[in-house]
Amino acid sequence: MRYSGFRVIKEALTGHKGWLPAWRDPDPQPDYDIVIIGGGGHGLATAHYLAKVYGQARVAVLEKGWIGGGNVGRNTTIIRSNYMLDGNEPFYEFSLKLWEGLEQDLNYNAMVSQRGIINLIHSDAQRDAFIRRGNAMMLNGADAEYLDEAAVRREYPFLDFDNARFPIKGGLAQRRGGTVRHDAVAWGYARAADSRGVDIIQNCEVTGFRIEDGRCTGVETSRGCIGAGKVGCAVAGNSSRLMAMAGMRLPIESHVLQAFVSEGLKPVLPGVITFGAGHFYVSQSDKGGLVFGGDIDGYNSYAQRGNLPVVEDVCEGGMALMPMIGRARLLRMWGGIMDMSMDGSPIIDRTHIDGLYFNGGWCYGGFKATPASGYAFAHLLATDTPHEIATAYRLDRFRTGHMIDEKGMGNQPNLH
Ligand SMILES: Cc1cc2nc3c(=O)[nH]c(=O)nc-3n(C[C@H](O)[C@H](O)[C@H](O)COP(=O)(O)OP(=O)(O)OC[C@H]3O[C@@H](n4cnc5c(N)ncnc54)[C@H](O)[C@@H]3O)c2cc1C
Repeated sequence: MRYSGFRVIKEALTGHKGWLPAWRDPDPQPDYDIVIIGGGGHGLATAHYLAKVYGQARVAVLEKGWIGGGNVGRNTTIIRSNYMLDGNEPFYEFSLKLWEGLEQDLNYNAMVSQRGIINLIHSDAQRDAFIRRGNAMMLNGADAEYLDEAAVRREYPFLDFDNARFPIKGGLAQRRGGTVRHDAVAWGYARAADSRGVDIIQNCEVTGFRIEDGRCTGVETSRGCIGAGKVGCAVAGNSSRLMAMAGMRLPIESHVLQAFVSEGLKPVLPGVITFGAGHFYVSQSDKGGLVFGGDIDGYNSYAQRGNLPVVEDVCEGGMALMPMIGRARLLRMWGGIMDMSMDGSPIIDRTHIDGLYFNGGWCYGGFKATPASGYAFAHLLATDTPHEIATAYRLDRFRTGHMIDEKGMGNQPNLH
């Protein structure tokens, strides 16, 4: 079924009786050519591009819970491509271009909104660093715009420009950045993949790998064994737990990240704002809630909930940036598990086990990467060669020292 304005009108006039389920609910087959573990954004996008671009017909996505129950439905919905390093920027710019055509590609309203993002500048040294980053972005074909203080004041007059500790001196804007409704991304990819024959199997937890003579030939699941020509792992915060079942120890730690939404307010924020002197980012959803977040909780955890010290820290950041936020009431908060890699950059690579492929280490930036990650992982699974925009995301870079350390923090996963 194609979605269209015409279809909406027709259904409205006929009592909404013609809508079909967005995807099937199949039982697992005994085997597939490719099995993807993890029905988050990355797993579902991989399945979509495998079917659509690489013509793979016998593909299954195994999800232990429900589609959209992981980080893809828990994030703060921000998309952007404002990275500096060569290993990263072309990848994220490719992703942003895929976002720009996503709704047409999937025939699904994911509410892609290029409302712009601004990273605020609070010191002269930070201005130099941000201008350098903007130049690197433009060299890679992305858009970047330096705004002086007066320009920021015109666009965001409510910010606390004269804050004694964190005065606002300008900003680096990316007008093509913005937000996308996160769970619609999972649903849109699921529906598109399903329509091309991909089996999306929910409530199916992978509990082990079948490895024979150094080759992965399938997976053990809560719904029985499933054979596979190739197995792709895309389970984000559960990466280390899953890969441990194949005997692998990853350069990844799992940490909690929280997000918050206020009560619905009249439109006040035109775009996404990030605080440059602390960890705080905020946008306004189409329902009116201020959606915001900050840093990870800072300790290893697999629990999808956080603790109060970070709530205080995030709220302090919001108050330092725009004191009016103190008048808004908090509606909800929640947590997700981040797969924090040692250099803050992801991994899309084969493993040392034949037929076993890994996608992870997204830290808290993996939502914006969803389309490119799916595309590059599908390319790797289908062709056994890395996609040209993801050649730097090798698993062995932690052994060879070819880090992609965007923040220059060193091997401190909780600081990236
Ligand atoms: C609070 C918060 C805010 C964030 N904000 C942003 C943001 O603004 N911008 C941005 O770019 N990124 C953001 N992120 C990060 C982003 O959401 C993640 O990096 C990204 O969604 C991870 O990829 P995914 O969608 O595939 O993960 P998930 O949706 O977590 O998918 C992984 C799936 O694997 C399943 N799974 C795990 N183990 C198994 C198993 N053994 N068998 C079967 N299935 C299994 C899980 O149930 C889960 O559904 C944020 C994350 C959080 C939590």
